[in-house]
Amino acid sequence: MSDKIWAHSGDSHFLEPADLWHQIMPVAQADRMPRTEMISDDEELVTVDGKSFTRSVPKTFTSKGATGETIIEMSHRPPGSRDVNLRLTDLDEEGIWGEVMYQSIGLWCSLIDDPQLIRDAARAENEWLASEIQSIAPDRLVPSALMPMLQVEDAVAECLHAADVGLHIISLPTGNPQGTRDYNDKSWEPLWAAAEEAGMVVGFHIGTDGGDQAAAFRGPGGAILNYVQTTYGGQYAAMKLVTAGVFERHPDLKVLISEGGASWVPFIGDRMNEAYRQHGMFVRPQLQRLPKEYLYSNVYASFQHDETAPAAMWAMGYNNVMFGSDYPHLEGTYGHTQKTLHELFDDVAPEVRERITTGAFVELFPHVSQPPAA
Ligand code: MN
Repeated sequence: MSDKIWAHSGDSHFLEPADLWHQIMPVAQADRMPRTEMISDDEELVTVDGKSFTRSVPKTFTSKGATGETIIEMSHRPPGSRDVNLRLTDLDEEGIWGEVMYQSIGLWCSLIDDPQLIRDAARAENEWLASEIQSIAPDRLVPSALMPMLQVEDAVAECLHAADVGLHIISLPTGNPQGTRDYNDKSWEPLWAAAEEAGMVVGFHIGTDGGDQAAAFRGPGGAILNYVQTTYGGQYAAMKLVTAGVFERHPDLKVLISEGGASWVPFIGDRMNEAYRQHGMFVRPQLQRLPKEYLYSNVYASFQHDETAPAAMWAMGYNNVMFGSDYPHLEGTYGHTQKTLHELFDDVAPEVRERITTGAFVELFPHVSQPPAA
């Protein structure tokens, strides 16, 4: 493990400033936006538009702030998750060059049910992301746009606005928001058309189905069952777009399923093809190509540690396998990225390693620069 392996990450996160909404929105609106507060060393209170709930979080530690105040830090929220300049130092040490950055507190915006509030919030946040985050290293940082998803026309307008301010990816929940139709419904067609036209990648991060996925199972093995359960929403989102013919109508639309692994893609592709052939009399719409071909060409998938992910490419012909560090989360590779990259790639062909660490990412985000020579 002497040589440094550089990789881009299709799955990373940043932590918004605690007072972000008050920086960028009128106070009456900002007061209604999501906020989180540690109420014990392993419990967090989440408040969204007057509604509150608690959730357990990984153990915390305390540190001293600039004026000596005690700051409660979470083990998965190193200083670089908030401060972009510190973040770049972390990334350089880990060997991550470009990265897609998803929200943290912003993920709770899916609980907002006022279309106007989420519309205004997305507009304000995306301008802030472009001017205050992406601009610090525009050839490396790819923050994902917050999207108002309660009304399709709002989503279309914000997709185009996010592209206008210079962002490159929109972030959609894997589960379509309450009151809207499934992603295979034709009501979403204008959003796919807008994303394709504007060249915006559509990112689905797993674990965003809505509801409390983290507590779906209890009893022996519950932690593992719940963890795996969060994966499936990404697979369904991809399948809905494939089977509804979205990629047939929008061949340039690119979808990224973040954090859900990659070896599911050949498996799901086989299952869809079997259904398409053996149940052809029931299948609507008919497609010009087999489902697996659309899945393989238009859907990209990021993984962190999965031992079988590289084989999805070299053994199963799926070329859109992408590494993701999941910085700075517990499930990710922060602190051991080089070890993981060497374990994954020391014994695979150079072209496979190149494609998974950088090539697939650059296909989605061609503006991102090359990592330094290793
Ligand atoms: Mn992630």
